[in-house]
Amino acid sequence: MQPIQLVHASLGERELAAVAEVFASGWPAGQGPRGKALEAQLVDRYAVGDAVALCNAGAALHVSLLALGVEPGDEVIVADYGFPAPAHAVRYLDAVPVCADVRADTGTIDPRAVADLITPRTVGVIAVDTVGIPADYVELQAIADRHGLFLIEDAACAVGATYQGREAGALAEVGVLSFHGRKGASSGEGGALLAADPKIGADARLRASFGIGSIFDMGEVVGLPIPEFTRIGHNYKLSDIAAAILQVQLDRVGELRARRDAVAAQYAELLAGEELLTVPYVPEDRTHAWQTYMVTLDPTVDRAAVATELRAKGIGCGHGTFATHVQPVFESKHKCPVSAELFERHLAIPMHAELGASQVERVVEALRGAVRTHAVPTRTPGRTA
Ligand SMILES: *Cc1c(COP(=O)(O)O)cnc(C)c1O
Repeated sequence: MQPIQLVHASLGERELAAVAEVFASGWPAGQGPRGKALEAQLVDRYAVGDAVALCNAGAALHVSLLALGVEPGDEVIVADYGFPAPAHAVRYLDAVPVCADVRADTGTIDPRAVADLITPRTVGVIAVDTVGIPADYVELQAIADRHGLFLIEDAACAVGATYQGREAGALAEVGVLSFHGRKGASSGEGGALLAADPKIGADARLRASFGIGSIFDMGEVVGLPIPEFTRIGHNYKLSDIAAAILQVQLDRVGELRARRDAVAAQYAELLAGEELLTVPYVPEDRTHAWQTYMVTLDPTVDRAAVATELRAKGIGCGHGTFATHVQPVFESKHKCPVSAELFERHLAIPMHAELGASQVERVVEALRGAVRTHAVPTRTPGRTA
């Protein structure tokens, strides 16, 4: 039987044709015509002050923090559950990531945990739209406003999701998108920064190109302008090759998300009665981008054994995402018990736009069998572990 992949990037003929056009144009590098067109498309789609095309979301987080003026020793509260790029970015600046625990039902940062962690050294918060579901931005913004903190939305996984009718990525003053091959819209590697304030966007764009403006633009000028380097920058530009792919992918966000939605609805229906696992919860006021579909296994189920069995049957699966505070490099005095538990009990099962109904049925059948086989009977009283 054909293996069923955990993830699959939906890249096809339209994307290839867009790449061929870039090859013919002679400008494959960054900040050229394609990059600019992509940025305009993002500004339009998200109705933000500025959008900066970048090489990945990690870089977008880094330049966001630089543009927002984070300094060594500052504390930045980060969502504990999710890919730990926010904590990495805070550490790039020798600032201190402070991990905030998450909601048990959605896995997104818990606004009450954020409020409890604020100290005189706190300068901002990075919320994560965990595997594609937006966090609680009304509550988070109120806390940020009350304490004069910045709020960044890490919407790396959430392209196509919504919160109270608004697009994920534009739910805070700064939003970060990822176009990595495992996300819902992709150019292999890629990212973007969305900013309400055009000054933040302009600053981030400059920092992402060695501190000088667009080389493409300089080539268009008549005469010989000699640019000057006025600050230390990075090279975080997105190539025009990737930008061309993303112009097509952004156009397809709705279509691809609708297909993942259908997969999620089928999983939810078929797994509804299964006592040994629960399917994801999506509050009424938001929609999920389904970057990953994670079921929560009952504590009696041996997750590793379930995963081994699924993989043996050719069905891709994984642990889902990460609890940041238990990673050796980030180990902190703040415990996040909810996040730690999700990290142990979540199981990611195949989710992408190319999955057909019969494949979903095959996954469900295998999963149902595996959780029943690998549920250890609850301990009898008096027995020691
Ligand atoms: C994937 C991911 C990132 C990193 O994205 P890259 O584009 O690979 O740098 C950052 N934050 C979260 C929450 C992610 O899931």
